[in-house]
Amino acid sequence: MFPECGGQRQSPINIVTSTVQYDPALGPFAFDGHDHISNITVDHLGHSAHFALPQSMRIHGGGLPSVYKALQFHLHWGVNAGPGSEHTVDGERYPMELHIVYIKEEYQSLEEAESDSAGIAVLGFFFEASQEDNTHFDTVLEALRRVRFIGNTSSVAAFKLSDIIPPAHELSAYYRYSGSMTTPACNEAVIWTIFHKTLPASHRQLVEVAGEVWYWTGKPMTNIFRPAQQLNGRVVSRSSPLPDELSALTDSAVPFLSGSAFCLCSVLVSVSLYCAL
Ligand SMILES: [Zn+2]
Repeated sequence: MFPECGGQRQSPINIVTSTVQYDPALGPFAFDGHDHISNITVDHLGHSAHFALPQSMRIHGGGLPSVYKALQFHLHWGVNAGPGSEHTVDGERYPMELHIVYIKEEYQSLEEAESDSAGIAVLGFFFEASQEDNTHFDTVLEALRRVRFIGNTSSVAAFKLSDIIPPAHELSAYYRYSGSMTTPACNEAVIWTIFHKTLPASHRQLVEVAGEVWYWTGKPMTNIFRPAQQLNGRVVSRSSPLPDELSALTDSAVPFLSGSAFCLCSVLVSVSLYCAL
């Protein structure tokens, strides 16, 4: 029914950190409009609940080939605060994963973007259990509670995505690979970014989220994640070098720098930034 779901560059994947390759082209992201306050809607679509985002929210940089505008965000979770993320890192499945879906700014719809192998950019954030409640996440939880049944729609007043995600300067470390949407029709049109920085949610919040939205059968939507797919030769890149990659970079840079104290300074600054990650 959805032939692309059996394709060669499917998502999600298990990220094996020992095989990930450093790519210096993966620079910092710019997040435009993510701190704007807007009234957004949330819709129960049967398999998930999507929070529609204003298209004035855009991202660029981050090694992306274009400017991308926001469409929606949604979550993947497990049950009872157990494993629930779609991507895994060295086999570890986090309790929840946030996906923010963007399309190239020239497209008018997700359908249009799906025909371009880089038409969609998804930003993925893992959640980790925290001692304290994440009060901003309660806004999302309460909205999900209002769309329990299929076809339900609700609104979230005065929503600000920057309340949920960390500031750009904390997001320079990430993984990158080419993949697909993780729900049918699994279109292979997605540039995936999975950030190292995790988001907090308390045990109480992680338990509650998996009970808020129900299937048409009258059962809560639980374990809404697709299993890991084969890499089939794809390379997963990282934006930040490991310490040994860093020393190789510094060594090769020295002859080039010998004539310019300014260049040396700027390289040292960027090296110390990498070290800070
Ligand atoms: Zn998703």
